[in-house]
Amino acid sequence: MSTLQAAAGVEKRHAVFFPFPAQGHVKPALQLAKLLHRCHGFQVTFVHTEHNRRRLLRSRGPGALAGVPGFRFAAVPDGLPESDADAAQDMSALLSTTEALAPHFRSLVSGLPSPVSCVVSDIEHILYAAKDMGLQCVTFWITSACSFMMYQLCQRLVDMGIVPLREAGQLRNGCMDSTVLDWVPGMPKGICLKDFPDFVLTADPDDAMLKVALRSMACHRTTPSAVIFHTFDEIDREAIATMSTFLPKIYAVGPLPLLLGQASGTGGVGDTLESNLSRENHACLEWLNGRRPNSVVYVSFGSIATLTSEQLVELAWGLANSKQDFLWVMRDDQVNNGGDPAAVLPPEFLEETKARRYVTRWCPQEAVLQHEATGAFLTHCGWNSVLESVCAGVPMLCWPFGADQYTNARYACSEWRVGLEIGGDVKRDEVEAAIREVMGEGEKGKEIRRMLNEWKEKAIVAAQPSGSSWVNLEKVVNEVLTVPP
Ligand code: UDP
Repeated sequence: MSTLQAAAGVEKRHAVFFPFPAQGHVKPALQLAKLLHRCHGFQVTFVHTEHNRRRLLRSRGPGALAGVPGFRFAAVPDGLPESDADAAQDMSALLSTTEALAPHFRSLVSGLPSPVSCVVSDIEHILYAAKDMGLQCVTFWITSACSFMMYQLCQRLVDMGIVPLREAGQLRNGCMDSTVLDWVPGMPKGICLKDFPDFVLTADPDDAMLKVALRSMACHRTTPSAVIFHTFDEIDREAIATMSTFLPKIYAVGPLPLLLGQASGTGGVGDTLESNLSRENHACLEWLNGRRPNSVVYVSFGSIATLTSEQLVELAWGLANSKQDFLWVMRDDQVNNGGDPAAVLPPEFLEETKARRYVTRWCPQEAVLQHEATGAFLTHCGWNSVLESVCAGVPMLCWPFGADQYTNARYACSEWRVGLEIGGDVKRDEVEAAIREVMGEGEKGKEIRRMLNEWKEKAIVAAQPSGSSWVNLEKVVNEVLTVPP
């Protein structure tokens, strides 16, 4: 019996999804929710914050929240100002809103027309509230298992007195901390402090981000019945095996775009368009249509990372000097002094590259990566971006800026060998050389493309109906999401 047939006879499965309200969390959560709805017969209530509801209505119109039969959207107040609808997603501002979400979540759930069978979230306060209400609750962690492992190890670094860092000189600001941690379980040899999430590299014992992270990691160890990861077994095997010794049940169910593609019968990337909080510019695909295969460098730093003006200028000249065509996603809030990023670009650069650049605020990234003209991805290494690049077989130039991006970059470059690391105090020559290496016929570039083909194939296999991620999804449905707590 197929999953769809099995689901047809199932009643009263009702999942409430409440992802952390940032683009990189909302998108995979919506993909997972769609899979449960389409393939496993779940009713879904998908909860946004008011801030994101306003953003969606602005960027996509009322249809964005219309839902479909059995799939409804809801929103709860978050206290963010209305005027801020399209502003940058400031991580600490977002984090500070999450505690206040819990009471609104409780009243929302109490008022839903049908009983709830499970709550899926990555917000600790929502998981605590769900458990307190006697509901089955599950963490959906949207980054790689290896980076979650790093987050989990932070407490140990604190217990061992390694963090907070003793010397200011050890801090990341430009110069990396290369202290090797050779005792780390489930991690490759040579892993360094610099490969950890950046909030660990603080000299301040009261650092707010460090405290939040430690608290939230304790929650994910003790509160949910399971942790679902947006990854696949093969790529994250060691971290999953190690974490199985101290986490609740673990299920790896990615890459979700490929699973959605299977579910919709296309066999390719699924319809994920409406999961973007910003409006995509589809005209860039037409521009790509006019380019040769593998000739374009796609540049994007995701939805949150910001650059200094100096970094932006060095990047611009690196792109110009590489002589390649490039498609650059430049958000209005891309520069960290709050200024207009376009105003930072030198006129000579604009003149020199006018025939071979396309700059846009936001694009349909998965389609861009899948386009045959795209030859490399200069990325901040957000996990969605890394997975999407692997699925598309596009080599990465890894320039991490925060959180799990350092771990992802380390694994992408040294373990999975699908990218070249640049980063920190990047200069134009370094950008140019890295682009030439992956776009050209250099040995490293060839090796990266060979490894990418292997990982892409493994990702496709994992997402097939008999593959590990598809099977893990069925397991978590049967073993956890449809079982009372
Ligand atoms: N994205 C997009 N268009 C863009 C830039 C990004 O659709 O112009 C999507 C991208 O496909 C990815 C997500 O936004 O799914 C960004 O998530 P990621 O984890 O890579 O980075 P974050 O924004 O969380 O730092």
